[in-house]
Amino acid sequence: MKITPLFALVFLVACRSDGPERSAEDPHAAAQRIHASAPVFDGHNDLPGEIRGKGFDAYDISQRLDHGHTDIPRLRAGGVGAQFWSAYVPAAEMRTRTAARYAREQIELIRAMCARYPADFELALTVADVERIRAAGRIAGLIGIEGGHAIESSLDILREFHGRGARYMTLTHNDTTDWADAATDEPQHGGLTSFGEDVVREMNRLGMLIDVSHVSADTMRDVLRVSRAPVIASHSSAFALAPHPRNVPDDVLREIARNGGLVMVNFAPAFLDPEAARIAVAWYPAMRAIEAGTSDEKERAERFDAWRKSNPLPAVPYSRVVDHIEHIAEVAGVDHVGLGSDFDGIPSTPVGLEDVSRYPAVTEELLRRGWSEADVRKVLGGNALRVLRECERAAGP
Ligand SMILES: [Zn+2]
Repeated sequence: MKITPLFALVFLVACRSDGPERSAEDPHAAAQRIHASAPVFDGHNDLPGEIRGKGFDAYDISQRLDHGHTDIPRLRAGGVGAQFWSAYVPAAEMRTRTAARYAREQIELIRAMCARYPADFELALTVADVERIRAAGRIAGLIGIEGGHAIESSLDILREFHGRGARYMTLTHNDTTDWADAATDEPQHGGLTSFGEDVVREMNRLGMLIDVSHVSADTMRDVLRVSRAPVIASHSSAFALAPHPRNVPDDVLREIARNGGLVMVNFAPAFLDPEAARIAVAWYPAMRAIEAGTSDEKERAERFDAWRKSNPLPAVPYSRVVDHIEHIAEVAGVDHVGLGSDFDGIPSTPVGLEDVSRYPAVTEELLRRGWSEADVRKVLGGNALRVLRECERAAGP
């Protein structure tokens, strides 16, 4: 096309449609302003796993801690308004048939955590709860079960967990279960078994989000075929940018868009950077060898820490999180991307995104790259709220 001077002028004016006022605002100031009115709704935080075994008195999150990624002062500084707290159940509990008990303990721990800090936290069971709690200036806490082995292959236990307040469940953790293949284990079923499909249908009926973080790509595809409600990946990044099996491949991103679902970007360097992903794939066999060697949780953690120190990951800048957000927005659309930090569940963080106080850095980077405020708000929490609402509406009798 030949570009005439008149066309060029019209084009330039059109490009400035956001207005000089907005583009003149410093991205740092804009990020602070946006966070004040658009609180973050993060998909996955493992603080409850940190508190387990230590107790609330020893792990007092009302104070700014000099360890860990999460406490109330830092949640406030980061503009967090709603958080899915992870009721994480180690895969080893599957082999000792203690997974359901472990999940119950973690669900009750999250409920107790919300009750213990009533000025800052309140448990949310519905979208209406989230909106009411945020309007009151508190942080809405939701419960997400991490590891479908928690239900011990029983729909009755699934219903019990929903009754106790769980609003999502990852169908697996690191290990393949009797009914679903995991991303980081040998596939046994080619995705979901027919019982696995029943689990998906029952979660739809209950109004519980199906979480495909940790499952294999074939399990993701099966879930997207069966589910009649939007599906989430509460803490996964884009496979195209970091080829780790925990990440979501592009064909699944397109299916997530069709399904109305959401991929919430994980901040773990292992899932953000291709070189880190290559090293981190070896974690899983190492972890299983350690698990086989001792049943003591503390000893397992110490041995795994030592193993990781001898296999270090490269430093990854926080801008890599924004690369993943942009990739998912390009492939699936801006309505299908969110944040699922995995803080307190990841052994290291990107540089510049060290804890929950640092979310505004992501906002600032999106603004610097020319994102509109409306789209930034979707990523921070608007999309998560919409998906939760649609899941509630899809619930049946
Ligand atoms: Zn996880």
